[in-house]
Amino acid sequence: MNDMTETDVAIVGAGLNGAALALALAREGFSVRLFDAAPIEIRADEVFDGRATAIAAGSRAMLRKLGVWARVAETVEPISDILVSDGRVSEGASPLFLHFDHREVGDEPFGTLVENRFLRRALYDAVAESDAIEHVAPVRVERVDYGTGWANVHLDDGTAHRARLVVACDGRRSRIARDAGVRYTGWDYNQTGIVCTVEHERPHEGVAHEYFLPSGPFAILPLKDNRSSLVWTERPDLAKAAMGLDDAAFGAEVARRFGTFLGEVTVTGPRWSYPVSLSLAHDYVCPRLALVGDAAHGVHPIAGQGLNLGFKDSAALAQTLGEAARRGEDIGDLNVLRRYERWRRFDNTAMALGMDALNRLFSNDIAPLRLARDIGIAAVGRIGPLRRMFMRQAAGMTPGLPRVMQENAR
Ligand SMILES: Cc1cc2nc3c(=O)[nH]c(=O)nc-3n(C[C@H](O)[C@H](O)[C@H](O)COP(=O)(O)OP(=O)(O)OC[C@H]3O[C@@H](n4cnc5c(N)ncnc54)[C@H](O)[C@@H]3O)c2cc1C
Repeated sequence: MNDMTETDVAIVGAGLNGAALALALAREGFSVRLFDAAPIEIRADEVFDGRATAIAAGSRAMLRKLGVWARVAETVEPISDILVSDGRVSEGASPLFLHFDHREVGDEPFGTLVENRFLRRALYDAVAESDAIEHVAPVRVERVDYGTGWANVHLDDGTAHRARLVVACDGRRSRIARDAGVRYTGWDYNQTGIVCTVEHERPHEGVAHEYFLPSGPFAILPLKDNRSSLVWTERPDLAKAAMGLDDAAFGAEVARRFGTFLGEVTVTGPRWSYPVSLSLAHDYVCPRLALVGDAAHGVHPIAGQGLNLGFKDSAALAQTLGEAARRGEDIGDLNVLRRYERWRRFDNTAMALGMDALNRLFSNDIAPLRLARDIGIAAVGRIGPLRRMFMRQAAGMTPGLPRVMQENAR
């Protein structure tokens, strides 16, 4: 059956970005169809996504206004301090480290750790309660035809749906975007991110740690209770071997990197692995198509910014389209969509290249580079304004935030 009843926006991909965008668009008064190839029960399952996300202040304000934050608030852990250090496996962190204390830039924590399993479920529950959003899954979008004033989304069940605008939220190197002629720049980091959760004897006191080990960063992110989420970035062959270890051997490898500062450490639950790459779309928009989230920019997870950037895209696109509709403009028109692109592309590209540079500088064991970065770490630690600039970035306190991300705006 072809459903040619027109919705305002068709979103391809109901990951964290697609779901958040659907809610942001509904808040602006648009009707939305949200398509995903995977069943909702599988995506909302506890073991689907083992990551935890450091949600910046603006993202938190947006999730609150979208009716999502209250659903996860009981499960979150604020980050009060960040310790950054250089190290080698089994040697512990180098004595030269950076200490970011949130009190230097305000009362708010740097970010709040939310486990993706809770965030996903909360987003899908909020979507299910919205009369403006139809979450259609499991269906794969096979192709999109673009016409004057409309786009037809063709699904693998043989149906087609009409919308005024299509948004690609289908992840890195989006098929939907490439089919529309969008090109990408990017590279593989030759790294894999292993993710797991650990329990430790002593409380973490809300402190996040980033150790720069030669094979890549090892991040310890505080979770509620005496637990932390780990992102252990490793060479793909070694990551594959680590993923194949039995629980005891895997736990021993984690403990070698983690150290003993929080007492005994035990891995709990499953482990996940994610390939790490950079992909930047040359264009964020074409007539009747916009790209959001990883479909527009896949960045290194070194500073935990990928999803926060995607949420900014969603907020900026929803605001741009809302303003255009109120002026009587066509939301699929390229001139309207270019406003969104101009708003978001520079910020995303600057952040992606910044993460790339950090990873290159730190993920090696070359002696002169090691010395230079330790001197750099010590310098940043001593220079107050520079240290505070890094902290504001980490907390997402940047100018030009869309209204829905500003705590005191509507
Ligand atoms: C190890 C690691 C740690 C991270 N930590 C952080 C962090 O602390 N903070 C942070 O801000 N970010 C973090 N990120 C980044 C963040 O997780 C991603 O940016 C985010 O999950 C991307 O979401 P997305 O919705 O854009 O894409 P995806 O999650 O890739 O979702 C794409 C969706 O599209 C669907 N799809 C694809 N093609 C089709 C089709 N043809 N038809 C229908 N459906 C389709 C898929 O089924 C999928 O559900 C981390 C990333 C990694 C790898």
